Amino acid sequence: MSETGFDVIVIGGGLHGLSAALNLAQAKRKVAILERAWVGRHASGATAAGVRTLGRDLAELPISLESMEMWRRIGSIVDGDCGFHAHGQIRVAEFASQMPVLEQRAAKTAALGYRHEEIIDQAELRRLVPALSRHCFGALIARDDGAADPHRTLAAYRQSCEAEGVTIHEGCGVEALERRGADWLVRCGERSFLAPVLVNAAGAWAARLAAMAGEEIELGYKASMMIVTERLQKLLDPVVSVVGRSLSFKQSGQGTLVIGGGLQGSADIAAQRSSVNFVELAKGAHAATDLFPMVRDVRIARSWAGMEAKTRDLLPVLGPSPTAPGLFHSFGYSGHGFQLVPVAGAIIRDLVVEGGTRRAIAAFRPERLMPAREAA
Ligand SMILES: Cc1cc2nc3c(=O)[nH]c(=O)nc-3n(C[C@H](O)[C@H](O)[C@H](O)COP(=O)(O)OP(=O)(O)OC[C@H]3O[C@@H](n4cnc5c(N)ncnc54)[C@H](O)[C@@H]3O)c2cc1C
Repeated sequence: MSETGFDVIVIGGGLHGLSAALNLAQAKRKVAILERAWVGRHASGATAAGVRTLGRDLAELPISLESMEMWRRIGSIVDGDCGFHAHGQIRVAEFASQMPVLEQRAAKTAALGYRHEEIIDQAELRRLVPALSRHCFGALIARDDGAADPHRTLAAYRQSCEAEGVTIHEGCGVEALERRGADWLVRCGERSFLAPVLVNAAGAWAARLAAMAGEEIELGYKASMMIVTERLQKLLDPVVSVVGRSLSFKQSGQGTLVIGGGLQGSADIAAQRSSVNFVELAKGAHAATDLFPMVRDVRIARSWAGMEAKTRDLLPVLGPSPTAPGLFHSFGYSGHGFQLVPVAGAIIRDLVVEGGTRRAIAAFRPERLMPAREAA
């Protein structure tokens, strides 16, 4: 016997599934989340949780800036502050020869009327990050950017969903989707669920879900790696990245250094497992000690790799299915989807409840990654 009475079934209990579910429940929709493992099992539990507008693809900037405004008042969106702080994100040029790339970026965004990115000189860089190696030359900064705590964010979104009546079914992997009149029948082992609307927020597995609904969407994956160190005295406030190297460097509220930047491990998507490539990871550690020489003797406490969907243009897939009625996609965040969590949920609510959105999402439509005949 199918479980009925739902308006929307969200597939995937990562932050994007939770955010979509929360927004829909606030619009008085009866929502169930089906999660194969447990909430936050994959990218959303492995993330570095940087909240960055700096250097975003121009197509993402309008929704990213709106999301930043939402992060600033995140305590009014979910039950908790998510550990968010806005100490800025800084992209450092180690050498004068790297400044033009940052200056061109700043000029490009300024020409479009954006004011959130700014070039800073060596003196200002040293003032903001005194621990940075003296050889660094200048930087591009977004002063209102920042970072959050991924686990507090997951807990806050989950708690807020449950408070709005969302039912979360963990250990419930979707195996098949079938049409039943105006509804979707969603099969998970012995259980099945019926609802007219589905949200596909299945992360690295989202193309498989789309295929179950008869839709072919080209999707790759990433397995970005992270390092967390032992706790240290306060070293820096902003999040630091660097031109020409894979490094993102910040200090958590607990004092640990959180070092990432997109260095890739390996992943077996079918087996849902990822692993660290220590030779690659060492490059991140080298970059960190080049930029912050005083951390050379700090001990690494943990490292991991997290699996996430990656599109060929590194933009998300966020919009209605062009072929399957009642199916909405929210995946493919390609290594920078944490920052977009608040706004992406609001966009899914617009699409499901209003039938459209004023937000700029044309660049994210699924059709761009579908074979021409299917998307037509
Ligand atoms: C190491 C790392 C560092 C990152 N750093 C940053 C950062 O600093 N800033 C930033 O903005 N972004 C960052 N990201 C990206 C960001 O974390 C992701 O974009 C975001 O978490 C994606 O969330 P999601 O909900 O789409 O996917 P996920 O969190 O992966 O959720 C998808 C869920 O779907 C479930 N699922 C899959 N198939 C099924 C099925 N058949 N049935 C039921 N459930 C299913 C999975 O179990 C999973 O829990 C990082 C990612 C990683 C991995």
